[in-house]
Amino acid sequence: MIGLNDYAPIVGQEVIDQLQRLAACLGPRRFVHINSTRTGGGVAEILERAVPLLEQLGLDVKWEVIQGDQEFFEITKAMHNALQGYKVDLSPAMLDHYREINRENARKFTWESDFVLVHDPQPAYLINFLRPQAKHWIWRCHIDASRPDRGVWKFLQEIVSQYEASVFSMSQFAQNLPHPQYLIRPSIDPLSEKNRDLSTVEVQEVLDRLGIERDKPIILQVSRFDSFKDPVGVIQAFRMVRRHTPCKLVLAGGEAIDDPEGPRIFAEVMEAAKNEPDIQILLLPPDAHHEVNALQRASDIIVQKSTREGFGLTVTEAMWKGKAVIGGAVGGIVLQLRDYNTGFLVHSPEGCAFRIRYLLHRPEMARRMGKMAQEFVRHHFLITRKIRDYLTLMILRENPTERIMEL
Ligand code: UDP
Repeated sequence: MIGLNDYAPIVGQEVIDQLQRLAACLGPRRFVHINSTRTGGGVAEILERAVPLLEQLGLDVKWEVIQGDQEFFEITKAMHNALQGYKVDLSPAMLDHYREINRENARKFTWESDFVLVHDPQPAYLINFLRPQAKHWIWRCHIDASRPDRGVWKFLQEIVSQYEASVFSMSQFAQNLPHPQYLIRPSIDPLSEKNRDLSTVEVQEVLDRLGIERDKPIILQVSRFDSFKDPVGVIQAFRMVRRHTPCKLVLAGGEAIDDPEGPRIFAEVMEAAKNEPDIQILLLPPDAHHEVNALQRASDIIVQKSTREGFGLTVTEAMWKGKAVIGGAVGGIVLQLRDYNTGFLVHSPEGCAFRIRYLLHRPEMARRMGKMAQEFVRHHFLITRKIRDYLTLMILRENPTERIMEL
């Protein structure tokens, strides 16, 4: 099992010592996380790695997942889309179903806790049934809520207002709420199967297995098949590049239980990629961490052309692997990519095509940007920093009136 000290060579012993000091200051607290899927998507990815590290720091941690039927996840995906700016109408019957599934799930949760962190809208309503079971209820929003649909946000705002605090990934997502709001950036785990170093033999073995030849530069986007990830825009950009410069595009994606829209978007992608032998579309299982790692390492340029993005862990993962990344200039991607420095931000398929060609013709610059990107991630977006933020948040919530605290 990976221990806290295994991170010291990557982030420095000082960072590990600080985590231990904070954990000692907090004491052995009970901490429950609740989300809506154990695999698929960034939230599951983060929790899978954060829970064991928090346990090693002496916390008693539980990770609960709410269950729902197809209708429930269609409603909550509509809420997700509405928070990201789509116009969505949720009927009273849909809202009742959302409440009812939360009520049913609440019956299964009999624990008592010091802190509960509820991730995103799906389980947000649980607080109505479980409030006495925990001292501190905090809502964590991972979504790009910069321009939410007002009607849907109004519904959620009433629910979220019952929490004692909320956490967003960046200031642009903060909302009008009657409680303190905190900013915590997501993070990746450099020692996970998704991000650990791989040998060239390991990388090649995966490419052989997936049938990807390295006869041309590889452009990659890894994403759930979701319209906000704009896979069709990536294909348009690729077709523009290909007219002038030989390269191939790999679109790797999987499904998440809480995202029922995947098959429809996947069909659109297949249609857009028709008759183009240099596009490979891979439908990967949710636990294909090793494969994603190898694909990212084998690629020359990595794209994340989202039109809304809570954070974009795929961007962080690619940067950590020393890759030049081109990302949509939205949401959390903007926190990660700085033009000519740690990557490129783009606003359209044309802009994306321009930057792909620019980098394909300047491999030395792509390497330099990749190096800077990796250092940027080391300092800002590794899991040790996020654990520090969680511990600090808990200490702050337990001492809301303290003006000066020695941590
Ligand atoms: N991911 C994966 N396989 C896929 C698609 C995505 O393992 O087919 C992972 C990806 O590597 C990243 C996470 O799922 O760790 C997606 O997080 P991100 O923040 O990029 O987007 P989200 O899906 O949460 O909107």
